[in-house]
Amino acid sequence: MEDSLFLMSSALSLSPSSSRFREKAFLESKEGPKEYPSYLELEKKAMLSERVEKLYSIYENCHLCPRDCRVNRKEGQVGRCQATSRVKISSATPNFAQESPLVGKSGSGAIFFSNCGLRSVYSQDYKISIEGDGVEISDQRLAEEMIKLQKKGCHNINLVTPTHYAPNIVSAIQKAISLGLRIPAVYNTRGYERLETLQLLDGIIDIYVPECKYMDSEEAGKYSAEAYNYPHHAKLALKEMYRQVGDLKLNQRGIAIRGLMVRHLILPNRIAGTEKFLKFVAENLPKTTYINIMDNYKPAYQAMEYPKIARGIRRSEYAEAIKWAKKYGLTRIAR
Ligand code: SF4
Repeated sequence: MEDSLFLMSSALSLSPSSSRFREKAFLESKEGPKEYPSYLELEKKAMLSERVEKLYSIYENCHLCPRDCRVNRKEGQVGRCQATSRVKISSATPNFAQESPLVGKSGSGAIFFSNCGLRSVYSQDYKISIEGDGVEISDQRLAEEMIKLQKKGCHNINLVTPTHYAPNIVSAIQKAISLGLRIPAVYNTRGYERLETLQLLDGIIDIYVPECKYMDSEEAGKYSAEAYNYPHHAKLALKEMYRQVGDLKLNQRGIAIRGLMVRHLILPNRIAGTEKFLKFVAENLPKTTYINIMDNYKPAYQAMEYPKIARGIRRSEYAEAIKWAKKYGLTRIAR
């Protein structure tokens, strides 16, 4: 079973690497922030078990994400994400196709979780996120995968599409602490988050990487399986994530140790509401918020059935996004 975890790893790159992006201005001084992850503090205060318990109880009436399915996943029922209460992953390997502060020299320890609550019609990784490719493992085994990534020198544990397995993940982090886990946890999400779930992650996650997909309810509903409430929840989520971890901080080697890194994938014909998104960030978060504006959209899965998203991104569409970022005074754009 172990080998099957690595079948798809090299093919996956959910975001472009921003290797050209060097953030010298944001490097911390020697007296900068602590480098040990927050979850150690929570465990020291004996608060992690309570979080695991609270998160697991949500499975009985699942409302981990804004789909609010209210199914009992402990009894095998499934909601929109198609996930049970047993965690399923497709790969766990060092990944170099993420932003440079996550990748560094040794890679980001990416664990790709199967299934997804958002179910976008253009999903690039639909085999995993929609068709559910992967293998079911125990929380203990997930903890062991985290330790293996740490031993390989990865700078962080990058939890890709984690929301629907948040209880298993926090349980695994707790188990991994006793096995020696000491690198920060990255919550790499599609931005469709419920406040209550995020609040239970406060003090556990050091780096949030939400991808903000839409600013318009109709577009969210049309392209992501009736997720009309996406913009509402994504905006609340961004603010909550920032409240918890603040601006992105790097260590002396330029590696992310804590903070918010926001992604935004440009969609053709302004479907993603890029200008509104940048304006929202400028008005609600510091102008120094790290933002990766991604221009690597390609039609995948069912996208060709939707004329407005049945093509890649034009140079002019990326250029106008950068122009808007400047217009709203945003100063930390990965490029
Ligand atoms: S995590 Fe899955 S079952 Fe739970 S509310 Fe979200 S989509 Fe529904």
